[in-house]
Parts: sequence; C-alpha cells; structure tokens
Amino acid sequence: VADDANLLEQITAMDLFPVGMDGKLKPLDPVVIPEPPRAGEDPAECEACGQPDEDFVWASENWRIRGKGATPFPGMLFLETREHYDSFGDLTDELAGEVGPLLRRIERALLSRGDVGRVHFSRWGDGSAHFHVWVMPRPLGAMQLRGTFLPFWEMLLENLPEPEVREAWDHFAKAMQNG
Ligand SMILES: [Zn+2]
Repeated sequence: VADDANLLEQITAMDLFPVGMDGKLKPLDPVVIPEPPRAGEDPAECEACGQPDEDFVWASENWRIRGKGATPFPGMLFLETREHYDSFGDLTDELAGEVGPLLRRIERALLSRGDVGRVHFSRWGDGSAHFHVWVMPRPLGAMQLRGTFLPFWEMLLENLPEPEVREAWDHFAKAMQNG
C-alpha cells in the first residue's frame, strides 16, 4: 500500500477502513446473510491442507507454523492445524489442549531473539477457513507499534529484505527445537 503521497487516499479507499476521505465514519453496509464463502471453505479445495511441510517454518504431528514472507517484522508467523479445522470451536479436545503449551513455546522462541518487545496472538479467520492464529512479534522498544494498530503498521511499513526474513525463521525453528 504505502509508496506515495496519496497514502491517506489509499487507506481510506480500503473497504475495511472505518473512516472516509471526508474524515467521517463510513456508514455501515447492510448485513449479508448468509455470508459469502471464504478461501478454503471446502476442505477438498483448501490450499493450506494441500501444502507440503517444506513450505512451513516448523511442523509437528498436529501443527504447522507458516512464515510470513512479506513483512517488516522478523518472525511474523501463522500457527495452523495440520488437518482441516475452521476455528477453536471445531478443534478436538486433544488439539484444543495443545494450543496453550504451543503458544507458550512460540512466545518463548520469539522472545529469545532479544529484539522482540512483546508477542501478540490474533485469531480472526475472516479470510481463510483453515485454522490459523496470527503471531505478531512487536519490535523491542517500538512503543508506537503497541496494541491494536500493529497489524496496520505491519501492512504499511517497508518489508524486510529476504535474508533477514529467513534468518528470523531459522532462529525461530532452532528455538522451537530447544523449547
Ligand atoms: Zn484446510
């Protein structure tokens, strides 16, 4: 998005952004029920299900962790189930019981970089129907990036060069092995 002086125009034109160029809150559209299908709603056509482990930064029997390649933050990840589930409500008892320890392990692995101030986890699921949790490491000391607007900054700041993205994935995978 962010590459010229019309940034405000580009941002306000995004249908999800709540404020328009006139500085006013956009009126809410009429509700759409049933809602339109999301990507991978049919497990037979789900992209995440069909991907090999090589496409992931880390994988175990039940879980896989995907690295986000285009990002300004080292260690932006998604935690995904290996099999096709939609949200927390669909997980088996076994999988649901593994989530807490796994999130703890992920947080510790990212904090071990030393340049991460805090690790945020977000569950939305409005885009893809395959279970995924956003893992967002906020850079240490970047106080402007605290809280709710971090995903927005993530979208607008300049992306890291590929070697730095890969270094972060390697560090993370090694730290997960240790933890
Ligand atoms: Zn799937």
